[in-house]
Amino acid sequence: MRTGAIIRLNRFKENINTVKTRVGKDIQICVPVKADAYGHGALQISKAAIEAGAYCLGVADVTEGVELRKGGIQAPILLFSQAHPSEIPLIIKAKIIPFISDEEFAASLNKQAETEKIKLPVHLKIDTGMNRMGCPVNEALALAAMIKNSSSLELAGTVTHLSVSDSANKSDIDFTNTQLARFKKAVSAIKNAGINPGIVHAANSGAVILHPNAWLDMVRPGILLYGFKTVQEYEAPVEHLKKISKLSSIIVKPVMELKSAVSLIKKLNKGEAVSYGRAWTAKKDTTIGILSIGYADGLPRLASNRWQVIINGEAFPLVGRITMDQCCVDLGANTSVKRWDEAIIFGDDIYPEQPKKSAITQNAAELASVVRTIPYEITCNVSKRVKRIYKL
Ligand SMILES: *Cc1c(COP(=O)(O)O)cnc(C)c1O
Repeated sequence: MRTGAIIRLNRFKENINTVKTRVGKDIQICVPVKADAYGHGALQISKAAIEAGAYCLGVADVTEGVELRKGGIQAPILLFSQAHPSEIPLIIKAKIIPFISDEEFAASLNKQAETEKIKLPVHLKIDTGMNRMGCPVNEALALAAMIKNSSSLELAGTVTHLSVSDSANKSDIDFTNTQLARFKKAVSAIKNAGINPGIVHAANSGAVILHPNAWLDMVRPGILLYGFKTVQEYEAPVEHLKKISKLSSIIVKPVMELKSAVSLIKKLNKGEAVSYGRAWTAKKDTTIGILSIGYADGLPRLASNRWQVIINGEAFPLVGRITMDQCCVDLGANTSVKRWDEAIIFGDDIYPEQPKKSAITQNAAELASVVRTIPYEITCNVSKRVKRIYKL
């Protein structure tokens, strides 16, 4: 294999079970599979999610939902982002459940659903402070009433999104509580008006870790299910820790492992430079390994001269600029590395396929911090060219 991403479906299912155990059996799980399941492959991940007992899936784009339907997925599919009006026929045809932020879009959906003589389930999205999608809190009741009174829409859920739930700063914890209080107040008003809000949900990964009061009827953790904790329980202030003290620390494992192979080995003399810009020069005679993976595969160019790969359980630095399709590794003067040996870009603490067990660990979150981004962007950016290899 030149370059590939191993996707461990059993790990993913274990992560779902871990979340299930944490939130309890009465709370449903929605698995965000937007952006090709954060780069892991939406169809395979969706199937695994349903097998593991997830209730529904979340996409950001109508065509992502359509692809899942084509692949045979029958579970409810929520559409998190605002659709374009031209996509409404597809939403209806593929039975995708859109989030509604305003009356204009609700009216357009209703009109089309009426024409098609169907009842379209929708979720009411309330903006409680993220200031992205959703209607203002004080307009939620009116929008809920409009949906309820429409001929062809059904209010199947009510939702908000949290902007700082993955932060353990006291002010951010307070802000999440403010968002939740606004949300709960709006949901109460809807209920008090005799309108059923449907399934009520708010919690993303950060809230699954830190905010049990956000779990409500359903949780929507994405990055956590793909194996990354963006916040640790113990980071929270003591008074918050007391509130969540019943929870043991949640443990998940990365689902994706990105690897390549040493495609060529060559000697390099002291003073010679490698790759574009001659950005790294050998301080002594050495051996260079070439890997057929570059920024077009999703290895960030910013990781040039700042990351290492693991070959046979040993770490070797990436040297010189990462190019579009290739990068270079300093193997040292007397290397035992052979051509076509496997090189791990990121994975986790155990490398089952490695001949020698490695004590060295490096994951996508660590690579992310080296290039000042988040693990989401690292796994999403593993491009189409990289073959996904599904393992149980
Ligand atoms: C992406 C997304 C999530 C999941 O967020 P994570 O931080 O990955 O848990 C949940 N809800 C909505 C609306 C989203 O867009």
